[in-house]
Amino acid sequence: MTLQTHILGYPRIGAKRQLKFAEEQYWKGEISQQQLLQQAQAVEHSNWQAQIDAGLSLLTVGDFVYYDAILTHAVRLGIIPARFATEAAKLNQLDQQFYLARGRAANCQDVAALEMTKWFDTNYHYLVPELVPQQQFKADFSELLAQVDRAKAFNTPIKVVLPGLLSFLYLSRIVATEHSSHVLPACACGNDHTSVNADPTTLQFVDALLPIYADLFDQLKARGVDYVQIDEPILVLDLAVEWQAAFERVYNVLQRRDDLGLILTSYFETLGANLNLAVNLPVAGLHIDISREKAGEFFWKKVIDQLPAHKILSIGLINGRSVWASDLLALNEIRRTAEQALGDRLWLATSCSLLHVPVDLSSEQVPADIAGKLAFARQKLDELVSLAQGRLDSKTQPTTTPDHSFALLAQSRAEPFAVRFKAQQAKLNLPLLPTTTIGSFPQTSSIRAARAAWNKGQLSDADYRAAMQKEIAYAIAQQQQLGLDVLVHGEAERTDMVEYFASLLDGFWLSKFGWVQSYGSRCVRPPIIVADIHRPQAMTVEWICYANGLTNKIVKAMLTGPVTMLNWSFPPAHRSRREVCLQLAEAIRLEVADLQDAGIAIIQIDEAAFREGLPLRKADQAEYWDWAVKSFQHCASSARVDTQIHTHMCYSDFKDCLAQISAMDADVITIETSRSGLQLLDVFQQHAYPNAVGPGVYDIHSPRTPNAAHMRQVIDKALQSIPAERLWINPDCGLKTRNWEETRAALTELVHMAKQLRAELSAQS
Ligand code: GLN
Ligand code: ZN
Repeated sequence: MTLQTHILGYPRIGAKRQLKFAEEQYWKGEISQQQLLQQAQAVEHSNWQAQIDAGLSLLTVGDFVYYDAILTHAVRLGIIPARFATEAAKLNQLDQQFYLARGRAANCQDVAALEMTKWFDTNYHYLVPELVPQQQFKADFSELLAQVDRAKAFNTPIKVVLPGLLSFLYLSRIVATEHSSHVLPACACGNDHTSVNADPTTLQFVDALLPIYADLFDQLKARGVDYVQIDEPILVLDLAVEWQAAFERVYNVLQRRDDLGLILTSYFETLGANLNLAVNLPVAGLHIDISREKAGEFFWKKVIDQLPAHKILSIGLINGRSVWASDLLALNEIRRTAEQALGDRLWLATSCSLLHVPVDLSSEQVPADIAGKLAFARQKLDELVSLAQGRLDSKTQPTTTPDHSFALLAQSRAEPFAVRFKAQQAKLNLPLLPTTTIGSFPQTSSIRAARAAWNKGQLSDADYRAAMQKEIAYAIAQQQQLGLDVLVHGEAERTDMVEYFASLLDGFWLSKFGWVQSYGSRCVRPPIIVADIHRPQAMTVEWICYANGLTNKIVKAMLTGPVTMLNWSFPPAHRSRREVCLQLAEAIRLEVADLQDAGIAIIQIDEAAFREGLPLRKADQAEYWDWAVKSFQHCASSARVDTQIHTHMCYSDFKDCLAQISAMDADVITIETSRSGLQLLDVFQQHAYPNAVGPGVYDIHSPRTPNAAHMRQVIDKALQSIPAERLWINPDCGLKTRNWEETRAALTELVHMAKQLRAELSAQS
């Protein structure tokens, strides 16, 4: 018997990022909407063709969206916040999506875009729908129905994907007034700024949405659709009782007595405490993700035991979050056991949408030691069908880097902060409220041109080095003129804060086309950790020392921390994240030592993604924090008492983790503050943060010159809880996305504000 096979979704960017390029051309007015649609439908078609070619039994439809699936669903439900409404009335649904996501559209007034935030524990970002208490819905699913019609050409049973009613509401937010919803574009680093929202008041919209879903199901049924995949990923979270109760109510109302099969999908975790709830919902089937099961947990067996006799169970065996080939022999054991219990009620699937892995490995030049061990989205389709057909022998086993039980014991600095800080102050001799920046300066077209020429072999290594040195010299001269106290080299030589270090460390492989959608048309190319991490030689010392030699001021070195390196890479297949993180930390620890030996007195270890790997369930979080904090401490452990360690986070939601942030024990932390309405500083006040802090005094995402009074407010507020001796003045993130003119204007104001404040403080004392 061949089992049903399906995926939960496929990457929509296209193997060569066609959709990205087409969208960006469209936004610039270079191609028409018709041309964009053509290119998009070509990708949609090739995604379906890939499923057909691989031999999947169900064709997945509706996962293809232009910007984000939650956004698309919101627009199809007519959820257009008031600030967009007048202009949006002139636009069709596609342009409405772009307008809400970007805050701009041709011939429309610019307004603040929808907020975006991380999709569960992935690096994908969705747009957060904004609902008002009197929200009206006006459904129009004609584009989805047109998609279904296009898919019919394949003569294959169709499964349509939809965001589940409850997950959709859970991930939305209620805004009381139009003004409270003002939000700025997400951080340039792709970092998340809020966590998943679970405001139970969004449940008030259940009754309004139920008939819309029921009606849509009727229309899909009438179109000949066989199954609807209802994504309810919140079923893996620690759900409050009102959400659990809502599941029962919603699916009792939506249950079907005809043969439109509703398949409720959960992913990124096991069903956990929601198991009993989920198996008893009146739907045709459930999908579970087994890729996150702990060794020996066999949660899937519990699901099978409790599943009522007529229901379908789709088991997500092929890991949709990993770039490694599946161990098909091991998975086949699971399949055999499950099949004995379920017969043809067993479906085989990917654990989640394949959106989170790169599209296709076939155009990559994979190094010999990992050849045959990787699988991107296209390859995972083949794995799935091989598993269903029992064709297992041709498959190579996945990477088998053995667990070395890496015997490194995480170290930390010997002296307490108070002792270190005193020694550092004596050595650094900085003014009160020192001014600095977060690391990067504008990535100008001359930097990009030099790098492109070097990559193409048109510029020699020596000429490239000279070109970068020129940029560094320029950045140093600018900072001197501006009168900043602690200078940086500007990061001209770095493409990306993770990729740069990954390219210099052993143990990483950088693919050429391994792009993954981060948000909208933005893609990232996460490095892949393929072996033990080693630092063959110093990575930053030469650049930093070059900068240091150009000035009498202190130059702060810039490194990327181990937790961020790990969270923005694909981890290896068979090693614990903790172990890999400690290896990365060891590499950074050595770099810290080398920088220090070369005479660098301040070293910043960026941890922009420190919080991003946090497990979804509370019960698993303590373990993560333990190794994340220890890894950071380990990096800093080679610093002498008078070497000052900074860290930076472009993140503000510290309510639930200030204890861990404190435990990192950086001498100075610079953080995003300006956008979070200073709430962050309340958290610091409540918890009496012990070390030094540089609250970002202005938002670098805005091209506008910051207002001195606003910057001053941040510091005045900070001074209420943190003594001036422990305060720094800096922007809230790196300046690489700004131009020099904006940067000079902003920093002039910043330095001016600092000087004035210093004068006032010394007059008072
Ligand atoms: N040092 C980095 C920069 O300034 C930090 C970037 C970030 O926080 N994402 O660009
Ligand atoms: Zn930042």
